[in-house]
Amino acid sequence: MTSWIEVSEQRLTENFRVAQEILARETASSTALLAVIKANAYGHGAGLCAPVLARAGAEWLGVTDAAEGATVRTAMEVAGIAKAQQPRILVMSGHLPVDVPVIVQHSLTPVVWRQQQMAALAEAAGAEPCAVHLEIDSGMSRQGVALGGLRELLRWLANEPRIRLDGVMTHFASAEVAGSEQTLAQRKQFEAAVQLVAEAGLRPTWIHAGNTSMIDNGADGDILAWLHGLAASVGARAMVREGLGLYGYALPLEGLAVVAERAARLRAVVRPVMTWKTRVIGISEVEAGARVGYNGTFTAEKTMRLALLPVGYADGLRRELGCSTWNRGGWVMFHVERAPIVGRVSMNLTTVDVTEIEGVAVGDEVVLLGEGSTAEDHAALAGTISYEILCGMRAPVVLV
Ligand SMILES: *Cc1c(COP(=O)(O)O)cnc(C)c1O
Repeated sequence: MTSWIEVSEQRLTENFRVAQEILARETASSTALLAVIKANAYGHGAGLCAPVLARAGAEWLGVTDAAEGATVRTAMEVAGIAKAQQPRILVMSGHLPVDVPVIVQHSLTPVVWRQQQMAALAEAAGAEPCAVHLEIDSGMSRQGVALGGLRELLRWLANEPRIRLDGVMTHFASAEVAGSEQTLAQRKQFEAAVQLVAEAGLRPTWIHAGNTSMIDNGADGDILAWLHGLAASVGARAMVREGLGLYGYALPLEGLAVVAERAARLRAVVRPVMTWKTRVIGISEVEAGARVGYNGTFTAEKTMRLALLPVGYADGLRRELGCSTWNRGGWVMFHVERAPIVGRVSMNLTTVDVTEIEGVAVGDEVVLLGEGSTAEDHAALAGTISYEILCGMRAPVVLV
């Protein structure tokens, strides 16, 4: 095991509770929090996180696809959580007819937006109708049915007793932008869609929208109350889907910059759940003038002590973290001390400077990502977002 990811059960639970408290404060406790554990829980291990979140009180989990849903169901059974105590599982990124048996077998709830998807589910439904959540494309032009096609779909649904419309949902494209015109336009579209659902005589139990940034975004303070009110207007419960925040991160709020920073409700209070670690595999001393790594992009200016780490870009340590003589790169942590990466990050090896750190030895633990070197630090250097860093690591996950 050249590297491993430690996931803090306590922090995951605390982050879940913190978001729940914000929802409770803004909407008098009735808005539910769906814990998004898609993409292997953003690299944190969906099978490990699901039982933790179930015990924290999650009523819903969100997974990528039917296969991940099956894995999560099995993991909860293995963890000893009785069927009746298990959260429901929303399959968020669509499905094809081949997935239908898995959906039925594991009692998964698929997000749907096409009639053919529902027809295949109807065929497979047993004594109970198959519950689905209908996604509305309110302006992101990604997944969902646009308002233009909604009436026809609802007419079909109203005449199909084997399908139960359990939820209606949408997703916002710019939730982290305070005062976003796009979000406002999407809200209007979603309101109109929910209205059409009610007019079609359908009675969903859940109305949901939004993500971590929607919970964080205190600058658009009314948005949670808006969702709550919209759900109540059709006799449904509101729900918000949180992913990133559960793992201890949130995008910085944008727009209305000064206001936004103060208005972040979640970002300052959640704490990173993941610590990615490895061990020193070699120590070497190099003279001034020595060139380090591929293409010799870093030249030692003095005698240096270097620690060799058995990880590289094959493990998800981004190449952009490499450091040349002209360009500072990333760093790893030996307890509270930073060791800068020197030279290029190789496929399975990385060299760090430990000249200033006392007593580093072969076998010592190193934090590649975690306290002192966060997913946001890595993302800033790699020119991306913390989301991509978190799900980009390949290492075994352990709960601590
Ligand atoms: C991934 C996803 C979320 C969660 O987003 P975060 O920003 O990680 O909280 C919510 N809803 C949908 C539809 C998603 O795809």
